[in-house]
Amino acid sequence: MRYRRGSAMSSTPTKPPKDPRATPAMRQYFEFKKRHPDCVLFFRMGDFYEMFDDDAVLANRVLGITLTERTAGVPMAGVPYHAVDGYLRKMVAAGYRVAVCEQVQDPREATGVVERAVGRVLTPGTLSDEGLLDAATPACLAAVAFLDSGDAADGRVAAAVADVSTGAFIIFEAPAGRIADELLRSGVREVLFAQTATGETPPRAERLLDALGVAGTPRPAWEFRPAEALEVLTSHYRVSSLAGFGLRDDDPAVSAAGAALKYLIDTQSPDPRSARAALAHLAPPTRANPDDALTLDATSLRALEVERTMRTGDADGSLLGVFSGRDGCRTPMGRRLIRDWLVRPLADRAAIEARQGCVAALFEDSRTAAALDETLTNMQDAARIAGRLGVGRATPRDLVALGVALSRLGGLRDAIAATPAFAGFAATLDGQRAALAPLAEEIARTCVPDPPGHLRDGGVIADGVDAELDEARAMQRDSASYLAEYQSRLIAEHGLPGIKVGYNRVFGYYIELTAAQARSAPASFIRKQTLKNAERYITPELKGFEEKITSAEGRALRREQDLFAALAGRATDRAPVIRAFAETVATIDCLAAFARVARRRRWTRPAIAEKPVIDIRDGAHPVLEAALGDRFVANDAALGTAEKPANLALITGPNMAGKSTYIRQVALIALLAHTGSFVPADSATIGLIDRIFTRVGADDALHAGQSTFMVEMVETANILHHATGRSLVILDEIGRGTSTLDGLALAWAIAERLAGGDEPPRTLFATHYHELTTLEDEAPGRVRNLHVAVREWGDEIVFLHRIEPGRTDRSYGVHVARLAGLPAAVVARARELVETLTVTHEGSAPAASTAHTPRRAGERAASAPQLPLFTEYVEHPAVADLRALDLDAMTPMQAFDALRAIKEKLGD
Ligand code: ADP
Repeated sequence: MRYRRGSAMSSTPTKPPKDPRATPAMRQYFEFKKRHPDCVLFFRMGDFYEMFDDDAVLANRVLGITLTERTAGVPMAGVPYHAVDGYLRKMVAAGYRVAVCEQVQDPREATGVVERAVGRVLTPGTLSDEGLLDAATPACLAAVAFLDSGDAADGRVAAAVADVSTGAFIIFEAPAGRIADELLRSGVREVLFAQTATGETPPRAERLLDALGVAGTPRPAWEFRPAEALEVLTSHYRVSSLAGFGLRDDDPAVSAAGAALKYLIDTQSPDPRSARAALAHLAPPTRANPDDALTLDATSLRALEVERTMRTGDADGSLLGVFSGRDGCRTPMGRRLIRDWLVRPLADRAAIEARQGCVAALFEDSRTAAALDETLTNMQDAARIAGRLGVGRATPRDLVALGVALSRLGGLRDAIAATPAFAGFAATLDGQRAALAPLAEEIARTCVPDPPGHLRDGGVIADGVDAELDEARAMQRDSASYLAEYQSRLIAEHGLPGIKVGYNRVFGYYIELTAAQARSAPASFIRKQTLKNAERYITPELKGFEEKITSAEGRALRREQDLFAALAGRATDRAPVIRAFAETVATIDCLAAFARVARRRRWTRPAIAEKPVIDIRDGAHPVLEAALGDRFVANDAALGTAEKPANLALITGPNMAGKSTYIRQVALIALLAHTGSFVPADSATIGLIDRIFTRVGADDALHAGQSTFMVEMVETANILHHATGRSLVILDEIGRGTSTLDGLALAWAIAERLAGGDEPPRTLFATHYHELTTLEDEAPGRVRNLHVAVREWGDEIVFLHRIEPGRTDRSYGVHVARLAGLPAAVVARARELVETLTVTHEGSAPAASTAHTPRRAGERAASAPQLPLFTEYVEHPAVADLRALDLDAMTPMQAFDALRAIKEKLGD
């Protein structure tokens, strides 16, 4: 999918109608197009929404609908009205804004052109309709304000993130270098930024949008000016200052918050002539502190497959997938929140332990867990219904679903009442009950249990609720018996047994006589319509009846609409409490899901430590464990513990042995521990982590256009600059993207740097460079060698996937190639070459054969031709000879002789 943005995102400006005899409808079209120049205009004409000109061409490309011409030279494309949601969804998902222009007048009543109005403007970040949203993912809008004039990575950026579908609204600041990561974690779909005076996208915004890959929307710079932004906020929330929200009026984030709010108001109420969407559900902006969360940048989220897998992009197979499906959350709001918990683990021990306490309580008490499960299952999306109430788009079904959801409040409270860890939630629910129970009761009393999806045809308000409605309905219901009675009266009166009284949409009520009987029609019958074999009449009495019925129908419908609006209005007034209730539900739902997964999979509660340790016994990879079952081999991991103080573990082993799995597994266990979840291990102690860094090779394909090696080095530089004594670093196959010697040298230097220093991070370093294992001797107590055990059977190798102390000295690359199905002849030839190359190294003197330390390797690399990748590193025998010399026990002459002998061995 390609996103278009900035001025390019808007559909190109409208050309004047080519046909000078443009119809009135077309003139109206161009009028709306002028008012919404940056939108694709869906223009309702009868049973279709039509698009014209460039919009039509675009629709043809994006939606795959047929391009036609209405008038010669005016491209046109249309979608049927009943299927419009699907097309709207597609258009918005492709990054476009859409204005939907409706017919607001009954065409039958129109004299001249039908009245129309733009009822909604849809943009990727401002959706609220159920049919346009995915229940499990957030759909947020962000506004960013660059606070410094410069372009430095540590320059400050203020951001406001609003989810109009639920009413969440937060603001925060972050360094420019981290803003994209933070926005991605928030699930942002659209970013507002101030355009330049000449209407362009500033380069900083351009870069941010590139990193995010979402739609960007330029806004006039004045909307970001502090005074204007403050005015928008204070007038919307009807306050004189923001102090009540814990914000100073001159807070730098106010400009972003004001710009976001202004855009929400504009998109939700696009037609200045109609009522404004109340946005009553929108919470006041609250400051979030990114430091409250463990930092996970986009690279790490992707590499650890937290939200989706790298290969398929699906949640299935990712960490989130573990908490989806049958073990996952029971409510849509819980499903959205658990995603947030996983991408934004906590950084504070007390907060983590509070969640753990709740999970542990449910883990141990299966009865409470079952009761919760029952109350939560199929609970409707109260948060998004509150959102639709706020933007004035709640349907009858929404309101009834809301009533059902709210009616479960008591049950939810009772389910957790006896569990001390949930005391806080019970108190919160008690508070919410006062405001919500009457509303739930009123909805249940007022609406029919299974209302139609739309208010258009009525049938939403139950009988017995309102006397006026009941009376109007009674009249409609009684009409059937009245007509039957009238028909028999006419038959008796006129002695014409063939008389029928009927109804038809066009002509209304009528009396019908067959053609034969029509000759004896009484004079009081007024002829209305002649059919082939019959005549139809009306009488003043029937006409009077018809008027009464029609007006009763209209009255009933209007009354229903009024009653519904009043009820929806009362619900809207309580939108903030509904939102808070939905949040409570979501939180409990997530805790219950954590407990369910923990119990089903026999996970354990990790201990959270202040010291930078990792001590995992028999840990498993949360995703692979489920896929492989018993075949999964559990492994320990220890960094910075009393027995194993090393802070850097160097893992060697052949390809496919399980190195990547192991290092990711440790990272995922550490991450899970910070979410409050239990972890797949027999026991685990995790010292608090401020940030997880990853550099994992398989990600390279995603960075088209940039050399993979460059990406690798950029990411590694980021790690070396920012890792602290509380960070966890995961490195997989560093140095692969360049020549072997360069790669080895870099890997070496990087490992040395990560192992050293006063406050080194905890690092897991998987590598195929066995040479690095000598670091254990060079930095004892800091570096620890691990390898993945492999068993050899003659020519076969068996991967045991067991992590053991010590190093490997073989790479088994050719074995693995054979397993992968490389043709036998190629494998045989490779085997031959390995031998020859090794012999060559041991023998006379190919370049770099003495590569032992990276320094020398580096020096030589400049002049020496680079080695083929699969060359084994074999130390030159001369080096061994040199090492064996005991200089203290030699005379100068002996030393000289030894040197000469070695030099001879080296040849020239
Ligand atoms: P490497 O990084 O060493 O090349 P991987 O970590 O990618 O190897 O693992 C290769 C395959 O081995 C995985 O796809 C998985 O199926 C299997 N594997 C890895 N670790 C384990 C384990 N602990 N238990 C069972 N199978 C494993």
